[in-house]
Amino acid sequence: MSTVAVESDLDAVRAEAQDWLAQNWHGVDDPAWNRRVAEAGYAAPTWPAEDSGRGYSRAQARAVAAVFDAAGAPGAARELRGFHEYPWLELMGGPIRAYGTPEQKRELLPRLLAGEFGVGCLLYSEPGAGSDLAGLQTRAECDGDEYVVNGQKVWTTGGHLADTALLMARTDWDVPKHAGLSFFIFPMRQPGVEVRPIRQMTGDAEFNEVFLTDARVPAANLIGGPGNGWKVLQIALGAERRGMGEMAMGTAKTSTRPSLYALSDDLVEAARAAGRSDDPVVRQEIMRIHAWRLTNEWNNARALEEFRTNGASSLASLGKLANSRILHGAAALRYRLLGNRALQYDEAADDEAYRIDYDLMFAFINSIGGGSDQIQRNIISERVLGLPKGFEPDKGVPFRDVLKADATRSLG
Ligand SMILES: Cc1cc2nc3c(=O)[nH]c(=O)nc-3n(C[C@H](O)[C@H](O)[C@H](O)COP(=O)(O)OP(=O)(O)OC[C@H]3O[C@@H](n4cnc5c(N)ncnc54)[C@H](O)[C@@H]3O)c2cc1C
Repeated sequence: MSTVAVESDLDAVRAEAQDWLAQNWHGVDDPAWNRRVAEAGYAAPTWPAEDSGRGYSRAQARAVAAVFDAAGAPGAARELRGFHEYPWLELMGGPIRAYGTPEQKRELLPRLLAGEFGVGCLLYSEPGAGSDLAGLQTRAECDGDEYVVNGQKVWTTGGHLADTALLMARTDWDVPKHAGLSFFIFPMRQPGVEVRPIRQMTGDAEFNEVFLTDARVPAANLIGGPGNGWKVLQIALGAERRGMGEMAMGTAKTSTRPSLYALSDDLVEAARAAGRSDDPVVRQEIMRIHAWRLTNEWNNARALEEFRTNGASSLASLGKLANSRILHGAAALRYRLLGNRALQYDEAADDEAYRIDYDLMFAFINSIGGGSDQIQRNIISERVLGLPKGFEPDKGVPFRDVLKADATRSLG
């Protein structure tokens, strides 16, 4: 893979990309093409060479993207696109880049950039460990050059489609809860992984329970070393929260759920359609949501900057929390504007009413998934505002001795 100094002028970068395309792009967008783009460092050119990038500035990466676009060649400079277009670049790529060994970066990042990990899912939450995720009880035990995994996960979005998971599991029971966790890139398609769908209140079945029985993961896929999973996870969670904070922004307009991301203009349209655009209460509410949106965009810009500088961002919690308000507020206002029709939850009978009802229920994705609103407030108070931590009854206690949600000890 060739590398180009950060200072290269844009013309040289363009010329090199054009040259490379002339030799490599034959008009076929397939896995082999994705691999070639990744190997050349063009998939994420602002990443350093050791992370399968080219160490380019953002201006240089934009120049590369323009050259690829002009040639009709896909797949370049994916790190410049919105989180929702390439979430795994940050969900999986972030932890590997921050904590992977040089071998792991060499082995895993090109595969990630080439799309070889397929569909991903997050095996974090458990029946007794959601907000208190560090209390998880799925165990991973070292067995030669593999780990053997046993336990139960829940709320696994997309688990029924997934090829690869980010797995949090406990590798040490004799240290305090945060210290005994490990973070794995886990293959889903293997014996011992049973995925059972759960139906949501919207009627969709997007998430699942996942039962792990003697499932295996190569030790080479343990990121950050044994017992360091908590800090590795913070990178992935920060990325997820930033992505959720961006949901109400323009970048998500191409989503498969466009109604959820209705913009302020759409609220004005809804008020007009309901004959309520002169109603001062409605006008005030639209302005309130509009102001939340603007503030959220600024906060997300700050979070993105922090993210680029530090590889993590506590500010992302502000965006995620703000987005919860926006999604709930916009859906509730549109619901009220629709009046009695909003009671209809039948897509065929009344598509608009269905969508608005759907959004009202689906808005909870943002206030629970990826860490609930209350937890975001805790994070903001501790890590953004610097306020003291709340009471931690199990601080310093070996996890083996901590009272567990389903422990027989608690039953006497
Ligand atoms: C749509 C959706 C998709 C999801 N996808 C995934 C996924 O793909 N993978 C995955 O692993 N998980 C996923 N989750 C799970 C999600 O991360 C958890 O539901 C979330 O972390 C909350 O945990 P819990 O459900 O166990 O609630 P609990 O932890 O039981 O919390 C219940 C309530 O108590 C509050 N609470 C708890 N502790 C505190 C505290 N210390 N201070 C203040 N309030 C507190 C919570 O905020 C919440 O309101 C998803 C959830 C949803 C809704």
